[in-house]
Amino acid sequence: MKEIKISIVVLLSIFLTACTSKNNKEADESQTEVSELQKDEPSVPDKQWTYKGETGPDHWAEIDTNYCDGKAQSPIDIIDAVVSEDITPIDIHYNNATKIHDVTNNGHSIQYNFSEGDYINVEGKKYSLKQFHFHEPAEHTIKGVRYPIVLHLAHMSADNEYAVIALLGEEKSSNNPVFEFLNSYLPLQVDEKKEINESFNMNSIFPEDKSYFTYTGSLTTPPCTENVKWFVMQQALPVSNELISTLQEIMPINNYRKTQPLNGRTIWASN
Ligand SMILES: [Zn+2]
Repeated sequence: MKEIKISIVVLLSIFLTACTSKNNKEADESQTEVSELQKDEPSVPDKQWTYKGETGPDHWAEIDTNYCDGKAQSPIDIIDAVVSEDITPIDIHYNNATKIHDVTNNGHSIQYNFSEGDYINVEGKKYSLKQFHFHEPAEHTIKGVRYPIVLHLAHMSADNEYAVIALLGEEKSSNNPVFEFLNSYLPLQVDEKKEINESFNMNSIFPEDKSYFTYTGSLTTPPCTENVKWFVMQQALPVSNELISTLQEIMPINNYRKTQPLNGRTIWASN
């Protein structure tokens, strides 16, 4: 009887050791994933995420190691913004003849990529314009109102931090000149890329009224990296029905993330 008991104890300890080493292995693997993610970010997007179903926005936190269930996420509904004199105009250094390198349909959005040169300064740090892309409808809402389209101007600093300017669009009979230019390179199939190498005046992309909302949030797509400086322009740009429907046909339906909890963050507004 004593022998049987000893055998059970031995078997049990072998089983427990096996389980423990399996758990350690899993922990090691996920550690590798985290460090790889940090190393590769931001240039390698996770190909698996989508805008619908089991790989849609509600499941992004589950499908990969990322920050999508963090406490300072974007987009948000912009309400109760604090107007402050300290919120000075965005310090924009865009050229009058910026070269757009190419446009690509990456399966998540239509994205225009830039050559180095244009940048903004935020709190003494330089953020270079890397690319801009569309979401349809817009991601940030203003007092619950969702605009039909938004252009996100994504900037990155030398130490891999982000600043994004959101330009909201409202449906009108004609485009502003910038949207007309962008439209001339569409349509574009998934994974298709067109060289552009044409220049245009990036400064003409802004609305007349340059008031904006600002807060600290995240990228709105995986890996949902936090500490992103957001600048949402208050005045919407005119966008033609034609461009909106072209984008609708070539981008995933509803390529937007729903608004995230504010969790005590302050939204500031320039006046
Ligand atoms: Zn975006």
